[in-house]
Amino acid sequence: MTDLFISNVRPDAGAAANILIENGAIAAVGPDLRPREGMKVVDGNGAIAIAPFVEAHVHLDKILWGLPWHSINVPDSLRAMIDNEVEIRRNLPWSVPERAGNLMRQCVAMGSTHIRSHVDVSPGYGLDNLHGVLEAWEKTRHAVDLEIVAFPQLGLLVEPGTAELMEAALDEGASIIGGIDPANIDGDPAGHLDKIFDIAHRKQAKIDIHLHERGELGLYELGLIAERAKALGMQDRVIVSHAFCLGTASPDQLARAMDQLAEAGIGIISAVPGDIPFPPLFDLADYGVRCAIASDSLRDTWNPHGNGDMLERCWLLSWRSNCRTDAELAAALDMGTRRGADLLDLKGHGLEPGCDGSLVLIEGENLAQIVVDRPKRKLVVKRGRVVAKDGAWIDGGGA
Ligand SMILES: [Zn+2]
Repeated sequence: MTDLFISNVRPDAGAAANILIENGAIAAVGPDLRPREGMKVVDGNGAIAIAPFVEAHVHLDKILWGLPWHSINVPDSLRAMIDNEVEIRRNLPWSVPERAGNLMRQCVAMGSTHIRSHVDVSPGYGLDNLHGVLEAWEKTRHAVDLEIVAFPQLGLLVEPGTAELMEAALDEGASIIGGIDPANIDGDPAGHLDKIFDIAHRKQAKIDIHLHERGELGLYELGLIAERAKALGMQDRVIVSHAFCLGTASPDQLARAMDQLAEAGIGIISAVPGDIPFPPLFDLADYGVRCAIASDSLRDTWNPHGNGDMLERCWLLSWRSNCRTDAELAAALDMGTRRGADLLDLKGHGLEPGCDGSLVLIEGENLAQIVVDRPKRKLVVKRGRVVAKDGAWIDGGGA
């Protein structure tokens, strides 16, 4: 079912309208539209309609949600947590497809119909995690688009064979090359970055680098990333996830970094972390740096928190950024919807005719109020198909 008529909704909390979806795309929006004979009709009952949330950074292969509670009790060092995860994942009762499918269905139920997932690639794992996530997607692809980052979680240069596997991953379903803390993990920032830029440039892939490294080191590495993006003509194809170094930069450092990012077309994704200063996303956006928010690690060996709900993540951003006016709260919502779509170059995201027939209905008063109250998602539609209702995934794809 890719034709759908949704009556009596308020697009972006504006005036009441009906939405006509034909062949999976929005054909018309207006107050006087009528459904064609025999067409499936959904009564929106005055709900707000927004374009779907975009989950721009998650780890589908790491999720433990649905399994018994996992108590996190490991030394607080990146290397120790990496090794801890490898050990735990050896003996899980659920396979990658089961766990990844579980999280994808949750994301859809919360209104995200596009996911960018990092997937661990290493000599130990091979491409098993990639294959497992793709297997899970076979059962959810009617409801959610997926793009995959080949992620060297265990290290790149320190784990010989990883680069070759990442390159192979691009031939088997991944489209983005990942990276992680070039100094702390590999001990060679230039070497780490040269390797991932080389693979991505040769294979015409995008890049998405985890950069947790803070202070001067992180800012220095941002500069190295910008240099390489410009030198290879990869502007607008490189994203840095986290970039905590921007959260503590001085005004001068921040101004210099924003220049570099804007000039090299580098985007920023933040998970809005708990106690860590994070990039000033609204300042970056005002400056012309593309940015968005995402869930990142959730309910896994790294993080006991999270639920795959991007509306909750928008609220978290608004809370941590002290958004108080309606305009500021709506801007926080934008970071989980429109700005995420812009950052990931998604075509057809929106509620205008010609856009994908994908949307989320939420009962509420206005955009500011739904960010604060985070109501249950009344309906999630993907290209004309109802895929979740009242906060729950619909088995079988919905009619
Ligand atoms: Zn991550």
